[in-house]
Amino acid sequence: MLIKKCEKCGNKIGWLKVFISIMSGFRNIKCDKCKTEYYIIAPYRLTIVLGACFPLFLRNQILKVLSPQFYSILAILWLIFILLLSPFLLRTYVKNH
Ligand SMILES: [Zn+2]
Repeated sequence: MLIKKCEKCGNKIGWLKVFISIMSGFRNIKCDKCKTEYYIIAPYRLTIVLGACFPLFLRNQILKVLSPQFYSILAILWLIFILLLSPFLLRTYVKNH
């Protein structure tokens, strides 16, 4: 994981904290100890959003070979997969540099 420790105080920033930040619209991640705020860098936000929408772009192609029900299940599983993985994909930078 790329954001596991606070740059200033070394406090651990957990997966859940990052996950909650993503789920609440990429809110800044705050260190519990020293209150340093971390921004999620914009291209990484975009990567996650595009990644989550990926099955939508391929919808027509997928529906040629799979039933709509199966496509829905696949799209939901993909979304969950991306969301669970996203805290590992992100990079952040400190607000007050
Ligand atoms: Zn800290």
